[in-house]
Amino acid sequence: MLDIQKIRADFPILSQKVNGKPLVYFDNGATSQKPQVVIDAISHYYQTINANIHRGVHTLSQLATDAYEVSRGKIQKHINAQHLHEVIFTAGTTHAINAVANGFAALLTTGDEVLVSALEHHSNIVPWQMLCERTGASLKVIPMNDNGELIMEQFDLLLSERTKIVTVNHISNALGTINPIEYMIARAHEMGAAILIDGAQATPHLKPDVQALDCDFYVFSGHKICGPTGIGILYGKEEWLRKLPPYQGGGEMIATVSFEKTTYADLPHKFEAGTPNIEGGIVLGTAIDYLNEVGFDNIAQYEQELLDYATAQLIAIEGLKIYGTAAHKTSVISFNIEGIHPYDIGTIIDKLGVAVRTGHHCAQPIMDFFKIPGTIRASFAFYNTKEEIDIFVEAVKRAKMMLS
Ligand SMILES: *Cc1c(COP(=O)(O)O)cnc(C)c1O
Repeated sequence: MLDIQKIRADFPILSQKVNGKPLVYFDNGATSQKPQVVIDAISHYYQTINANIHRGVHTLSQLATDAYEVSRGKIQKHINAQHLHEVIFTAGTTHAINAVANGFAALLTTGDEVLVSALEHHSNIVPWQMLCERTGASLKVIPMNDNGELIMEQFDLLLSERTKIVTVNHISNALGTINPIEYMIARAHEMGAAILIDGAQATPHLKPDVQALDCDFYVFSGHKICGPTGIGILYGKEEWLRKLPPYQGGGEMIATVSFEKTTYADLPHKFEAGTPNIEGGIVLGTAIDYLNEVGFDNIAQYEQELLDYATAQLIAIEGLKIYGTAAHKTSVISFNIEGIHPYDIGTIIDKLGVAVRTGHHCAQPIMDFFKIPGTIRASFAFYNTKEEIDIFVEAVKRAKMMLS
Protein backbone atom coordinates (compact mmCIF):
# COMPACT_ATOMS: atom_id res chain seq x y z
CA MET A 1 0.00 0.00 0.00
CA LEU A 2 1.17 3.50 -0.82
CA ASP A 3 1.47 6.21 1.79
CA ILE A 4 0.04 8.93 -0.44
CA GLN A 5 0.56 11.79 1.99
CA LYS A 6 4.23 10.86 2.28
CA ILE A 7 4.52 10.65 -1.50
CA ARG A 8 2.80 14.01 -1.94
CA ALA A 9 5.30 15.59 0.41
CA ASP A 10 8.01 14.59 -2.10
CA PHE A 11 6.43 16.90 -4.71
CA PRO A 12 6.74 20.56 -3.62
CA ILE A 13 4.51 21.88 -6.40
CA LEU A 14 1.51 19.89 -5.12
CA SER A 15 1.19 22.02 -2.00
CA GLN A 16 0.87 25.18 -4.10
CA LYS A 17 -2.23 27.24 -4.55
CA VAL A 18 -3.43 28.18 -8.02
CA ASN A 19 -5.96 30.99 -8.39
CA GLY A 20 -6.22 31.00 -4.61
CA LYS A 21 -7.26 27.32 -4.49
CA PRO A 22 -5.22 24.23 -3.65
CA LEU A 23 -3.79 22.85 -6.87
CA VAL A 24 -5.46 19.71 -8.22
CA TYR A 25 -3.10 18.57 -10.95
CA PHE A 26 -4.83 16.18 -13.36
CA ASP A 27 -2.76 16.93 -16.45
CA ASN A 28 -0.26 14.16 -15.87
CA GLY A 29 -0.73 12.87 -19.43
CA ALA A 30 0.87 16.09 -20.69
CA THR A 31 3.72 16.09 -18.17
CA SER A 32 4.29 14.75 -14.69
CA GLN A 33 5.35 16.74 -11.66
CA LYS A 34 8.85 16.28 -10.23
CA PRO A 35 9.83 14.97 -6.81
CA GLN A 36 12.38 16.87 -4.71
CA VAL A 37 15.09 14.22 -5.35
CA VAL A 38 14.86 15.00 -9.07
CA ILE A 39 14.91 18.76 -8.52
CA ASP A 40 17.91 18.37 -6.18
CA ALA A 41 19.76 16.10 -8.60
CA ILE A 42 19.57 18.83 -11.26
CA SER A 43 21.22 21.44 -9.00
CA HIS A 44 23.67 18.87 -7.65
CA TYR A 45 24.89 18.16 -11.16
CA TYR A 46 25.53 21.85 -11.91
CA GLN A 47 27.01 22.50 -8.48
CA THR A 48 29.46 19.62 -8.52
CA ILE A 49 30.33 17.88 -11.81
CA ASN A 50 29.18 20.02 -14.73
CA ALA A 51 31.52 19.36 -17.68
CA ASN A 52 31.20 18.04 -21.21
CA ILE A 53 31.11 14.27 -21.46
CA HIS A 54 33.16 11.72 -23.41
CA ARG A 55 35.71 14.38 -24.31
CA GLY A 56 38.04 15.56 -21.58
CA VAL A 57 40.65 13.64 -19.66
CA HIS A 58 40.05 16.00 -16.76
CA THR A 59 38.36 14.80 -13.62
CA LEU A 60 35.06 16.64 -13.93
CA SER A 61 34.55 15.44 -17.47
CA GLN A 62 35.16 11.90 -16.33
CA LEU A 63 32.76 12.27 -13.41
CA ALA A 64 30.05 13.68 -15.68
CA THR A 65 30.65 10.91 -18.24
CA ASP A 66 30.50 8.25 -15.52
CA ALA A 67 27.24 9.63 -14.12
CA TYR A 68 25.71 9.79 -17.62
CA GLU A 69 26.72 6.21 -18.37
CA VAL A 70 25.57 4.95 -14.96
CA SER A 71 22.17 6.42 -15.78
CA ARG A 72 22.16 4.66 -19.15
CA GLY A 73 22.76 1.45 -17.22
CA LYS A 74 19.80 2.14 -14.93
CA ILE A 75 17.57 2.63 -17.95
CA GLN A 76 18.88 -0.55 -19.57
CA LYS A 77 18.03 -2.46 -16.42
CA HIS A 78 14.65 -0.74 -16.05
CA ILE A 79 13.45 -1.73 -19.54
CA ASN A 80 15.48 -4.96 -19.55
CA ALA A 81 17.39 -4.22 -22.75
CA GLN A 82 19.88 -6.93 -23.62
CA HIS A 83 22.73 -4.49 -24.35
CA LEU A 84 23.72 -1.16 -22.88
CA HIS A 85 24.41 0.24 -26.35
CA GLU A 86 20.79 -0.39 -27.35
CA VAL A 87 19.78 2.50 -25.08
CA ILE A 88 20.07 5.81 -26.95
CA PHE A 89 19.54 9.16 -25.23
CA THR A 90 17.30 11.48 -27.26
CA ALA A 91 15.52 14.76 -26.59
CA GLY A 92 12.26 12.87 -26.06
CA THR A 93 9.72 10.61 -27.73
CA THR A 94 9.28 12.91 -30.73
CA HIS A 95 13.01 13.00 -31.41
CA ALA A 96 13.27 9.22 -31.00
CA ILE A 97 10.46 8.52 -33.49
CA ASN A 98 11.96 10.96 -35.98
CA ALA A 99 15.33 9.23 -35.67
CA VAL A 100 13.80 5.85 -36.55
CA ALA A 101 11.52 7.18 -39.30
CA ASN A 102 14.43 9.04 -40.84
CA GLY A 103 16.56 5.90 -40.74
CA PHE A 104 13.88 3.92 -42.56
CA ALA A 105 14.09 6.33 -45.49
CA ALA A 106 17.19 4.38 -46.55
CA LEU A 107 15.23 1.10 -46.50
CA LEU A 108 11.85 1.95 -48.07
CA THR A 109 10.76 2.31 -51.65
CA THR A 110 7.56 2.71 -53.70
CA GLY A 111 5.11 -0.08 -52.95
CA ASP A 112 6.29 -0.52 -49.36
CA GLU A 113 3.84 0.20 -46.57
CA VAL A 114 3.99 1.76 -43.12
CA LEU A 115 1.21 0.82 -40.70
CA VAL A 116 0.18 3.34 -38.04
CA SER A 117 -2.83 3.14 -35.75
CA ALA A 118 -5.87 5.39 -35.56
CA LEU A 119 -4.98 6.06 -31.92
CA GLU A 120 -1.66 7.80 -32.44
CA HIS A 121 -0.27 11.05 -31.11
CA HIS A 122 0.73 13.44 -33.88
CA SER A 123 4.37 12.68 -33.16
CA ASN A 124 3.75 9.08 -34.17
CA ILE A 125 1.91 10.10 -37.36
CA VAL A 126 3.70 13.04 -38.93
CA PRO A 127 7.26 11.59 -39.07
CA TRP A 128 5.86 8.54 -40.90
CA GLN A 129 3.90 10.71 -43.31
CA MET A 130 7.09 12.62 -44.04
CA LEU A 131 8.90 9.31 -44.55
CA CYS A 132 6.24 8.11 -47.00
CA GLU A 133 6.39 11.37 -48.96
CA ARG A 134 10.13 11.01 -49.25
CA THR A 135 10.22 7.36 -50.27
CA GLY A 136 6.97 6.76 -52.16
CA ALA A 137 5.85 4.22 -49.54
CA SER A 138 2.20 4.37 -48.42
CA LEU A 139 0.77 4.95 -44.99
CA LYS A 140 -1.99 2.57 -43.85
CA VAL A 141 -4.12 3.14 -40.77
CA ILE A 142 -5.29 0.43 -38.35
CA PRO A 143 -8.85 1.49 -37.48
CA MET A 144 -10.49 1.56 -34.05
CA ASN A 145 -13.97 0.85 -32.75
CA ASP A 146 -16.33 3.14 -30.80
CA ASN A 147 -14.73 2.14 -27.49
CA GLY A 148 -11.39 3.41 -28.73
CA GLU A 149 -9.90 -0.08 -29.21
CA LEU A 150 -7.85 -1.02 -32.26
CA ILE A 151 -9.59 -3.62 -34.40
CA MET A 152 -7.22 -6.59 -34.60
CA GLU A 153 -9.12 -8.29 -37.45
CA GLN A 154 -8.47 -5.16 -39.54
CA PHE A 155 -4.84 -5.07 -38.44
CA ASP A 156 -4.44 -8.67 -39.62
CA LEU A 157 -5.95 -7.75 -42.99
CA LEU A 158 -3.75 -4.68 -43.44
CA LEU A 159 -0.56 -6.49 -42.52
CA SER A 160 1.22 -7.98 -45.53
CA GLU A 161 4.61 -8.62 -47.04
CA ARG A 162 4.52 -4.99 -48.20
CA THR A 163 4.47 -3.81 -44.56
CA LYS A 164 7.96 -2.70 -43.58
CA ILE A 165 7.22 -1.17 -40.21
CA VAL A 166 4.27 -1.01 -37.82
CA THR A 167 4.11 1.82 -35.31
CA VAL A 168 1.67 1.96 -32.41
CA ASN A 169 1.48 3.42 -28.95
CA HIS A 170 1.52 1.13 -25.94
CA ILE A 171 -1.11 3.34 -24.28
CA SER A 172 -3.13 6.09 -25.96
CA ASN A 173 -2.61 9.57 -24.53
CA ALA A 174 -6.02 10.79 -25.65
CA LEU A 175 -8.19 7.87 -24.47
CA GLY A 176 -6.05 5.76 -22.15
CA THR A 177 -6.52 2.56 -24.19
CA ILE A 178 -3.89 -0.10 -23.52
CA ASN A 179 -3.16 -1.65 -26.90
CA PRO A 180 -2.58 -5.39 -27.47
CA ILE A 181 1.04 -4.79 -28.42
CA GLU A 182 2.19 -8.34 -27.59
CA TYR A 183 -0.12 -9.66 -30.30
CA MET A 184 0.81 -6.89 -32.73
CA ILE A 185 4.55 -7.44 -32.24
CA ALA A 186 4.21 -11.18 -32.88
CA ARG A 187 2.07 -10.64 -35.99
CA ALA A 188 4.38 -7.94 -37.41
CA HIS A 189 7.35 -10.26 -37.01
CA GLU A 190 5.53 -13.15 -38.69
CA MET A 191 5.22 -10.86 -41.71
CA GLY A 192 8.85 -9.77 -41.53
CA ALA A 193 7.96 -6.19 -40.52
CA ALA A 194 9.68 -4.15 -37.82
CA ILE A 195 7.59 -2.64 -35.05
CA LEU A 196 8.03 0.51 -32.98
CA ILE A 197 6.19 0.99 -29.70
CA ASP A 198 5.54 4.54 -28.52
CA GLY A 199 5.78 4.10 -24.77
CA ALA A 200 5.42 7.78 -23.83
CA GLN A 201 2.11 7.21 -22.10
CA ALA A 202 2.85 3.70 -20.81
CA THR A 203 6.12 4.30 -18.96
CA PRO A 204 4.47 6.43 -16.24
CA HIS A 205 2.25 3.47 -15.35
CA LEU A 206 4.25 0.32 -15.99
CA LYS A 207 7.72 -1.07 -16.44
CA PRO A 208 8.17 -2.32 -20.01
CA ASP A 209 10.31 -5.40 -20.63
CA VAL A 210 11.62 -4.91 -24.15
CA GLN A 211 13.08 -8.41 -24.37
CA ALA A 212 9.88 -10.11 -23.28
CA LEU A 213 7.91 -7.86 -25.64
CA ASP A 214 10.43 -8.52 -28.41
CA CYS A 215 9.69 -5.13 -30.00
CA ASP A 216 12.28 -3.65 -32.36
CA PHE A 217 12.03 -0.12 -30.98
CA TYR A 218 10.54 1.30 -27.78
CA VAL A 219 10.55 5.06 -27.14
CA PHE A 220 9.56 7.32 -24.26
CA SER A 221 10.04 10.77 -22.69
CA GLY A 222 11.66 11.63 -19.37
CA HIS A 223 9.26 14.43 -18.49
CA LYS A 224 6.24 12.11 -18.27
CA ILE A 225 7.98 9.86 -15.75
CA CYS A 226 8.96 12.46 -13.15
CA GLY A 227 12.17 13.42 -14.99
CA PRO A 228 13.20 16.65 -16.71
CA THR A 229 12.02 17.85 -20.14
CA GLY A 230 14.31 17.57 -23.13
CA ILE A 231 15.43 14.01 -22.43
CA GLY A 232 14.04 10.72 -23.67
CA ILE A 233 14.99 7.25 -24.75
CA LEU A 234 15.18 5.36 -28.00
CA TYR A 235 15.58 1.67 -27.35
CA GLY A 236 16.38 -0.29 -30.49
CA LYS A 237 17.47 -3.86 -31.05
CA GLU A 238 21.16 -3.90 -31.91
CA GLU A 239 20.64 -5.33 -35.40
CA TRP A 240 18.21 -2.51 -36.27
CA LEU A 241 20.38 0.23 -34.83
CA ARG A 242 23.29 -1.11 -36.88
CA LYS A 243 21.17 -1.24 -40.02
CA LEU A 244 19.72 2.29 -39.77
CA PRO A 245 21.84 5.25 -40.84
CA PRO A 246 22.38 7.94 -38.17
CA TYR A 247 19.77 10.66 -37.85
CA GLN A 248 22.03 13.63 -37.26
CA GLY A 249 25.68 14.30 -38.05
CA GLY A 250 28.08 16.12 -35.78
CA GLY A 251 30.49 15.67 -32.92
CA GLU A 252 30.42 12.59 -30.72
CA MET A 253 28.82 10.36 -33.39
CA ILE A 254 31.94 9.90 -35.52
CA ALA A 255 34.91 7.56 -35.50
CA THR A 256 37.01 9.47 -38.04
CA VAL A 257 36.33 12.60 -40.09
CA SER A 258 38.07 13.83 -43.21
CA PHE A 259 36.65 15.88 -46.05
CA GLU A 260 36.69 12.75 -48.20
CA LYS A 261 34.89 10.43 -45.81
CA THR A 262 33.53 10.16 -42.29
CA THR A 263 33.11 6.89 -40.44
CA TYR A 264 30.57 6.63 -37.68
CA ALA A 265 31.14 5.84 -34.06
CA ASP A 266 29.84 2.61 -32.62
CA LEU A 267 26.50 2.36 -30.83
CA PRO A 268 25.07 4.14 -28.94
CA HIS A 269 27.14 7.20 -29.97
CA LYS A 270 26.22 6.86 -33.65
CA PHE A 271 22.77 8.23 -32.71
CA GLU A 272 23.98 10.81 -30.17
CA ALA A 273 25.42 13.66 -32.22
CA GLY A 274 26.44 16.82 -30.40
CA THR A 275 26.55 17.71 -26.73
CA PRO A 276 23.51 16.04 -25.23
CA ASN A 277 21.25 17.03 -22.35
CA ILE A 278 23.83 15.74 -19.85
CA GLU A 279 21.99 16.76 -16.70
CA GLY A 280 18.73 15.42 -18.14
CA GLY A 281 20.31 12.06 -18.91
CA ILE A 282 21.76 11.75 -15.43
CA VAL A 283 18.59 12.88 -13.69
CA LEU A 284 16.38 10.54 -15.74
CA GLY A 285 18.16 7.79 -13.84
CA THR A 286 17.22 9.49 -10.56
CA ALA A 287 13.58 9.70 -11.65
CA ILE A 288 13.51 6.01 -12.57
CA ASP A 289 15.05 5.11 -9.20
CA TYR A 290 12.34 7.14 -7.50
CA LEU A 291 9.52 5.44 -9.40
CA ASN A 292 10.96 1.99 -8.73
CA GLU A 293 11.06 2.81 -5.04
CA VAL A 294 7.38 3.71 -5.15
CA GLY A 295 6.93 0.48 -7.11
CA PHE A 296 5.10 0.01 -10.41
CA ASP A 297 2.77 -2.65 -9.01
CA ASN A 298 1.67 -0.20 -6.31
CA ILE A 299 1.31 2.56 -8.88
CA ALA A 300 -0.83 0.45 -11.21
CA GLN A 301 -3.11 -0.78 -8.44
CA TYR A 302 -3.62 2.66 -6.91
CA GLU A 303 -4.20 4.40 -10.24
CA GLN A 304 -6.82 1.78 -11.12
CA GLU A 305 -8.62 2.69 -7.88
CA LEU A 306 -8.50 6.38 -8.83
CA LEU A 307 -9.77 5.60 -12.32
CA ASP A 308 -12.70 3.52 -11.04
CA TYR A 309 -13.57 6.11 -8.39
CA ALA A 310 -13.54 9.03 -10.83
CA THR A 311 -15.35 7.14 -13.61
CA ALA A 312 -18.22 6.18 -11.29
CA GLN A 313 -18.72 9.79 -10.20
CA LEU A 314 -18.41 11.30 -13.65
CA ILE A 315 -20.87 8.99 -15.40
CA ALA A 316 -23.46 9.97 -12.81
CA ILE A 317 -23.41 13.51 -14.24
CA GLU A 318 -26.25 13.95 -16.72
CA GLY A 319 -25.15 14.66 -20.29
CA LEU A 320 -21.57 13.61 -19.61
CA LYS A 321 -20.04 11.24 -22.14
CA ILE A 322 -16.72 9.46 -21.71
CA TYR A 323 -14.66 8.81 -24.85
CA GLY A 324 -12.45 5.76 -24.62
CA THR A 325 -14.16 2.92 -22.82
CA ALA A 326 -11.74 0.16 -23.71
CA ALA A 327 -11.76 -3.00 -21.60
CA HIS A 328 -8.06 -2.36 -20.92
CA LYS A 329 -7.32 1.24 -20.11
CA THR A 330 -5.19 3.33 -17.83
CA SER A 331 -5.95 6.30 -15.57
CA VAL A 332 -7.04 8.72 -18.29
CA ILE A 333 -10.62 9.98 -18.65
CA SER A 334 -11.56 11.94 -21.76
CA PHE A 335 -15.06 13.37 -21.68
CA ASN A 336 -17.49 16.03 -22.82
CA ILE A 337 -20.73 17.41 -21.51
CA GLU A 338 -23.53 17.71 -24.04
CA GLY A 339 -23.86 21.17 -25.54
CA ILE A 340 -20.80 22.63 -23.78
CA HIS A 341 -17.42 23.31 -25.37
CA PRO A 342 -14.58 21.49 -23.54
CA TYR A 343 -12.53 24.69 -23.45
CA ASP A 344 -15.21 26.49 -21.42
CA ILE A 345 -15.28 23.79 -18.77
CA GLY A 346 -11.47 23.72 -18.62
CA THR A 347 -11.36 27.47 -18.11
CA ILE A 348 -13.90 27.47 -15.29
CA ILE A 349 -12.41 24.55 -13.39
CA ASP A 350 -8.96 26.14 -13.68
CA LYS A 351 -10.34 29.05 -11.69
CA LEU A 352 -11.23 26.45 -9.06
CA GLY A 353 -7.63 25.18 -8.97
CA VAL A 354 -8.14 22.12 -11.18
CA ALA A 355 -5.66 21.58 -14.03
CA VAL A 356 -6.91 19.37 -16.87
CA ARG A 357 -6.13 19.31 -20.56
CA THR A 358 -8.73 20.46 -23.06
CA GLY A 359 -8.51 20.16 -26.82
CA HIS A 360 -7.46 17.51 -29.29
CA HIS A 361 -4.52 16.19 -27.20
CA CYS A 362 -2.24 16.10 -30.26
CA ALA A 363 -4.49 13.40 -31.67
CA GLN A 364 -6.82 15.14 -34.13
CA PRO A 365 -7.69 11.96 -36.05
CA ILE A 366 -9.24 10.54 -32.85
CA MET A 367 -11.38 13.66 -32.40
CA ASP A 368 -12.43 13.45 -36.07
CA PHE A 369 -13.43 9.82 -35.51
CA PHE A 370 -15.81 10.85 -32.72
CA LYS A 371 -16.80 14.02 -34.68
CA ILE A 372 -15.92 16.32 -31.78
CA PRO A 373 -13.58 19.33 -31.56
CA GLY A 374 -11.84 17.97 -28.50
CA THR A 375 -12.40 16.63 -25.01
CA ILE A 376 -11.62 17.43 -21.43
CA ARG A 377 -8.95 15.02 -20.30
CA ALA A 378 -8.24 14.23 -16.68
CA SER A 379 -5.18 12.03 -16.27
CA PHE A 380 -4.22 10.75 -12.82
CA ALA A 381 -0.85 9.92 -11.33
CA PHE A 382 0.09 7.93 -8.22
CA TYR A 383 0.39 11.19 -6.21
CA ASN A 384 -3.25 12.14 -6.81
CA THR A 385 -6.00 11.40 -4.28
CA LYS A 386 -9.71 10.60 -4.08
CA GLU A 387 -10.22 13.92 -2.26
CA GLU A 388 -8.82 15.68 -5.32
CA ILE A 389 -11.23 13.73 -7.50
CA ASP A 390 -14.09 14.95 -5.30
CA ILE A 391 -12.95 18.56 -5.78
CA PHE A 392 -12.65 18.00 -9.53
CA VAL A 393 -16.10 16.41 -9.84
CA GLU A 394 -17.68 19.26 -7.85
CA ALA A 395 -15.87 21.75 -10.10
CA VAL A 396 -17.17 20.02 -13.24
CA LYS A 397 -20.72 20.08 -11.86
CA ARG A 398 -20.39 23.76 -11.04
CA ALA A 399 -19.06 24.55 -14.50
CA LYS A 400 -21.92 22.61 -16.05
CA MET A 401 -24.45 24.59 -14.03
CA MET A 402 -22.88 27.90 -15.01
CA LEU A 403 -22.71 27.00 -18.70
CA SER A 404 -26.07 25.34 -19.33
C1 LIG B 1 3.53 12.91 -25.02
C2 LIG B 1 3.44 11.89 -26.08
C3 LIG B 1 4.25 11.94 -27.22
C4 LIG B 1 5.22 13.07 -27.47
O1 LIG B 1 6.19 13.15 -26.48
P1 LIG B 1 7.17 14.41 -26.42
O2 LIG B 1 7.73 14.32 -25.02
O3 LIG B 1 6.34 15.63 -26.64
O4 LIG B 1 8.20 14.21 -27.47
C5 LIG B 1 4.14 10.94 -28.15
N1 LIG B 1 3.28 9.92 -27.99
C6 LIG B 1 2.48 9.83 -26.91
C7 LIG B 1 1.54 8.67 -26.78
C8 LIG B 1 2.52 10.81 -25.92
O5 LIG B 1 1.72 10.73 -24.86
